[in-house]
Amino acid sequence: MKHHAHTAYLLLGSNLGDRVVTLHRALVALAGKAGRLVAVSGVYETAAWGQEAQPAFLNQAVQLNTDLAPEQLLAACQQIEADLGRERLELWGPRTLDVDILFYDDLVLDTPALTIPHPRLPERLFALMPLADIATTYVHPQLGKSVADLLADCPDKLPVEPWLGDL
Ligand code: AMP
Repeated sequence: MKHHAHTAYLLLGSNLGDRVVTLHRALVALAGKAGRLVAVSGVYETAAWGQEAQPAFLNQAVQLNTDLAPEQLLAACQQIEADLGRERLELWGPRTLDVDILFYDDLVLDTPALTIPHPRLPERLFALMPLADIATTYVHPQLGKSVADLLADCPDKLPVEPWLGDL
């Protein structure tokens, strides 16, 4: 079996169109372009953050083994977002697909294009809940807290529910 050098955790989000189909297509595209899918969380539904008038999001976390460097991984994620028809009408607005890099090995990186670990992870229940399905014991390299601890300490009060629709 091919060995991939790096482990990344990604968060997928969709709140436009057929959200479940978009998540499936994103997984297939990641496996094709970015590496090997090692673990995939359950799907969670979350009221939209920022503008609460927009449709609810479905979110799913993925563990990926990859040979891509962080910038290459970001480019692959952005290509997949574009391929799946993301239309960016407004900041925080609806999107067909959003892909965020949450962790990349134990890397701490802060450039204009890329901040790893994702800076808003500790305050976002919609990211921590799916991530906790696949990475409870993973330790945040800056905060020194496990994903389980981040989840327990998360101040976010927006409800995040397991998605009970058809997958
Ligand atoms: P968003 O609206 O959340 O998709 O943010 C898009 C922008 O965030 C992109 O232009 C990226 O360059 C930047 N960005 C910074 N850090 C990250 C990260 N960890 N994962 C994904 N995008 C990031």
